[in-house]
Amino acid sequence: MLADIRCSCRIQWPMQSLNAQIVPPPMFFADSMLGRLVRWLRALGYDTAYEKIISDEALIERVLTEQRWLLTRDRYLVQRKILRDRHTLIGSDHLQDQLRQLRSELHIELVLSDRTASRCAACNDLLIVIPHEEAALTVPAYVANVHPRFVQCPNCGRIYWQGTHWTNMLTSLQELRAS
Ligand SMILES: [Zn+2]
Repeated sequence: MLADIRCSCRIQWPMQSLNAQIVPPPMFFADSMLGRLVRWLRALGYDTAYEKIISDEALIERVLTEQRWLLTRDRYLVQRKILRDRHTLIGSDHLQDQLRQLRSELHIELVLSDRTASRCAACNDLLIVIPHEEAALTVPAYVANVHPRFVQCPNCGRIYWQGTHWTNMLTSLQELRAS
């Protein structure tokens, strides 16, 4: 269940355009209280900026200059006039509720697959597929033996594969879609 804090703002995200087939996916800026949600949004392919420590002024400037949609738990911050119609006030501390709220209000797709252009959980950069033999030089041998596909962050070098964490995410997303 979502907590009582609900956003009264009018969602104006152009989820469906009347005269165009392609609607660009939203680009988010999430506040420091939403670190776990940020990692999930990035895995789902959503461009999600995040700063653990940032002043309200700097946050607002990034939201405006980068034309991002603010996700926040801060009910006072969203009272700023300048953030009107460019934010979602997240109503719960729980990840499942947060994802459910974004699916319902912003229509984000809760789908994780090879075709999803996943982003690095740590730095938000788009991950690129790397040759298996290249990954095998870095990842543990048993991982290289079991997994055929590896992706890497061009910024921090982290390598990702579809291990237990991936399977757990798939299960959680399936449950969410069914709820
Ligand atoms: Zn990275």
